[in-house]
Amino acid sequence: MDRLTKAQRVLSRRIKGSERWKKQRLFVAKLHEKVANQRKNSLHHKSKELATVFDAVAVEDLNMKGMSRALKFGKSVADNDWVMFTTYLTYKLEEQGKKLIKVDKWFPSTQTCSCCGNKKEMPMSVRTYECSCGSIMERDHNAAINIKNEAIRLLALE
Ligand SMILES: [Zn+2]
Repeated sequence: MDRLTKAQRVLSRRIKGSERWKKQRLFVAKLHEKVANQRKNSLHHKSKELATVFDAVAVEDLNMKGMSRALKFGKSVADNDWVMFTTYLTYKLEEQGKKLIKVDKWFPSTQTCSCCGNKKEMPMSVRTYECSCGSIMERDHNAAINIKNEAIRLLALE
């Protein structure tokens, strides 16, 4: 159990309106703020790192799950975090004359073989992309290559 959960549990056991309850409520609020700040700092740090290392960054629009997994935000990542993260990333890239490229959410990144361009259904439970061309790749890795290629294509059109 983390500190916040523990503190909230203590609060729920206190008599509502009592001095000890008020004190605990303040403590919970401060912990909340601390956790939120740590998350924000980590989003700043990760976006800065990406903006420094790469000349351009491509993301699949609205692909929160894939991105949060790739960056190890953990299961608790909220939509809000993703919005914050892409906002930070966009301006940190722009500061350096770089770009965030958003690939359309309907682009079939998961369904396409990144080796030969074949397409097939890929239910969520299938973790490996196996193609008749002989290519075998981890699902997200295959999708990432497709997103990268699509981003390069989009950049060339500009
Ligand atoms: Zn293939």
